[in-house]
Amino acid sequence: MGQRARFVITLPLVLLGATTLLAQSPHTDNAHNTGTNGSWIHQYREPAARLIGEAMGSTFAWQRLSVLTDTIGNRLSGSPALERAVQWAVDEMKRDGLENVHTERVMVPKWVRGAESAEIVEPVRHPIVMLGLGDSIGTPADGVQAEVLTFHSFEELDSKASQVRGKIVFFNVPFTAYGETVRFRSGGPSRAARYGAVAMLIRSVGPDGLRTPHTGALQYSSDAPKIPAAAITTEDADRIQRLTDRGSRVVVHLKMEAHFDPDAESANVIGELRGRERPEEIVVVSGHLDSWDVGAGASDDGGGCIVTWEALRIMKKLNLRPRRTVRVVLWTNEENGGRGGVAYRDQHRAELAKHVMMLESDGGVFRPLGFGFTGNEAGRQTVKTIATLLTGIAADQINGGGGGADIGPSVTDGRIPAMSLDVDGSKYFLIHHTPADTIDKIDPVEMAKCAAAVAVMAYVIADLPQRLGQ
Ligand SMILES: [Zn+2]
Repeated sequence: MGQRARFVITLPLVLLGATTLLAQSPHTDNAHNTGTNGSWIHQYREPAARLIGEAMGSTFAWQRLSVLTDTIGNRLSGSPALERAVQWAVDEMKRDGLENVHTERVMVPKWVRGAESAEIVEPVRHPIVMLGLGDSIGTPADGVQAEVLTFHSFEELDSKASQVRGKIVFFNVPFTAYGETVRFRSGGPSRAARYGAVAMLIRSVGPDGLRTPHTGALQYSSDAPKIPAAAITTEDADRIQRLTDRGSRVVVHLKMEAHFDPDAESANVIGELRGRERPEEIVVVSGHLDSWDVGAGASDDGGGCIVTWEALRIMKKLNLRPRRTVRVVLWTNEENGGRGGVAYRDQHRAELAKHVMMLESDGGVFRPLGFGFTGNEAGRQTVKTIATLLTGIAADQINGGGGGADIGPSVTDGRIPAMSLDVDGSKYFLIHHTPADTIDKIDPVEMAKCAAAVAVMAYVIADLPQRLGQ
């Protein structure tokens, strides 16, 4: 509803930018003083307005994401679909006229889900809607069947350790914040296995949905046996809880074919707009191209790939070439290994010092609020001033905590200022790692605003007379 009508608001923005340009003779500003005097920003009003107008003037980003998610689909590491997506991205970047488009080889783990199912078999039969956790082992061919013991914390598990042997441990912990609740997905299997559990179930890490299970990676500890582990829907979790509270002995049958095949060849995809004055200095914008093997990987993280890539496409289209190089990286293997980010750090070690800023968008492409920033105070002040160019699309907040899983290795080793795109997160965890992560959840106008925000921020940082933070 109303999406076409809302595009109208972009026209005054463009006009406003042009008017401001004429009124302020921007090139007489002290462009070299980015630290103490905000007047340098005026010279960027006109290009910022053009970038915003271009991003908002079409549904190009959303359409491109729909091609990725509809014609290729989800893209787990090691899958043929991910490699199709890599090749597609290379072809499309070339078609956009990006420069130095290439792939950089990364060997990735290949986890295969296989068939899987779970069922309550006592006190009465009920099917359970579930997803095996990424990187889990499978069950024996005929499955595991055992009584379920329900826990609500690791402490409760520890206090009843002697009861766990031979049982299925079930962590029924309602979703609060992701960082808080995800501990049970990643660490729960080994915690349970140390006490002799034969399998582990968790309540899905997400708010109550419509019987939608959430997958995601587990992490086995080296000092514990590996046991199969799966997430079940909040509805099925509540049913087991009610049965248990009523005093029933609950028995579950779990079957999973999950296993690893040998590592597979994959790649990070790179495209650039080479800088006009200092091409050796680099601003990276990025998202991860791999996804889980359910849904379509639209919010996680196809959208992040497309909006950061879009920043370069529209700069190129508008013939806006900043002083420094802007590089888009589409990472491989964020979800279950992080090998793309590590490979980039290793393959680019010699030029990490030339990285001016790295940005990752991996929180969805809903209504943008602004950016997270991690770096020095001078850099923060500059970024805050740049963000004033985004007040027209209400994406001008600069918060702490900029970063991302894939840029992390390079950012840490190279001590590089790091940013993330901050968006309205209210819907993200409802669909995160689920079959419902499809493009229909994404609004084309909100997505265009995300692209606009990234484009303006990346362009100005890449064009500043002084390096960000200096
Ligand atoms: Zn992600």
